[in-house]
Amino acid sequence: MAIVVQKYGGSSVGDAEKIKNVARRIAAAKDKGNEVVAVVSAMGDTTDELVELAYSVTDLPGEREFDVLLSTGEIVSSTLLAMALRAMGYEAISLSGAQAGIRTDAAYSRARIVGVDPVRIVKELDKGRIVIVAGFQGITEEMDTTTLGRGGSDTTAVALAVSLGAEVCQIYTDVEGVYTADPRLVPEAKKLAEIGYEEMLELASYGAKVMHPRAVELGELFNMPIMVASSFTDSPGTLIHGGETMEVRNKVTSIAHDLDVAKITVVGVPDRPGIAAAIFEPLAKANISIDTIVQNASINNITDLTFTVAKSQLRKAMEKVGPIAKSIGAGECVSDAKMGKVTIVGTGMQNTPGFAARMFSALSEKGINIQLISTSEIRITCIIDEEGVKDAVKALHRAFELEE
Ligand code: ASP
Ligand code: MG
Repeated sequence: MAIVVQKYGGSSVGDAEKIKNVARRIAAAKDKGNEVVAVVSAMGDTTDELVELAYSVTDLPGEREFDVLLSTGEIVSSTLLAMALRAMGYEAISLSGAQAGIRTDAAYSRARIVGVDPVRIVKELDKGRIVIVAGFQGITEEMDTTTLGRGGSDTTAVALAVSLGAEVCQIYTDVEGVYTADPRLVPEAKKLAEIGYEEMLELASYGAKVMHPRAVELGELFNMPIMVASSFTDSPGTLIHGGETMEVRNKVTSIAHDLDVAKITVVGVPDRPGIAAAIFEPLAKANISIDTIVQNASINNITDLTFTVAKSQLRKAMEKVGPIAKSIGAGECVSDAKMGKVTIVGTGMQNTPGFAARMFSALSEKGINIQLISTSEIRITCIIDEEGVKDAVKALHRAFELEE
């Protein structure tokens, strides 16, 4: 019997009706003769609500309690799903992350999986049961509950698929797969039948919300194919894999965008060794992730340093950077919270000239000003004003002929 690992996101289990819908889909997989393990996220916006609840009690919830609190969202959805299956006459059992054998380090709120011991899962499967696992959580060596970082249920699912030797990890969500651009912005966007791990990783890291980047990374590491599809339809989704059919090169595969971008510029920074470290080390210690960094060539040993952070981290970042700027003899710090980014991704870019030029001219034709640029071997990202993002994505989709 084949082991099937499925994952259902928060919007797929958002209410009782949706939970019953998911139960029917899991039952169908079981009826086909599979051994089924299903990982679930918390219902709808539950996790956001739990975060809010914690901060309504105190500004300092404490990391241990905070993670236990957040982990309860997935306990609720997994138990309800097991109940729904039992009501349909199926033998099903829910397991917490700890019971499922998800072992993690002790980095609360962003714990890493250090190993999976799926003994209990295997035991339940052997009894003929369907196993529902609460995603997004694990347990430390000290038996403390941890969470894997927001969106972490995808990672739970891929880790379980790997440790159970599943052929493919099926991720069911509220979209039908990975598209050439967000179909809400670009109605002509096409669903991709397949995409490589690296391209998917860049897309996920630069704003495509369909998969969590860490889960894609894990899939690549263990060569676990990941099928992303809708939990509401039966249309085939997108297969993320590293196989041989991935030879469609020298082409833009997809366009990602991100509206969660804020920009900070430290003006008049003295250009001497150690300055960048002096600015970025305290930010790293405060757990603020920095994205694109640009330092201008200096004139008279004075330069400007610009970088981007998530909007939600702007205030915290400014509070840190202000005093540092003063202490290193720099000028003022200015910020802009209304930024966005557009990214083109495709293999073979590094060997083919003209991708950047085509991207920049498509943006300029729309009168969109590029403020910062960052690249990898298979990606070019432009930071632009938030209000231009929609037009930019549309223009790039056309410029790279993705509707064809
Ligand atoms: N419920 C968690 C979150 O909202 C984990 C997940 O959805 O994957 O971040
Ligand atoms: Mg969620």
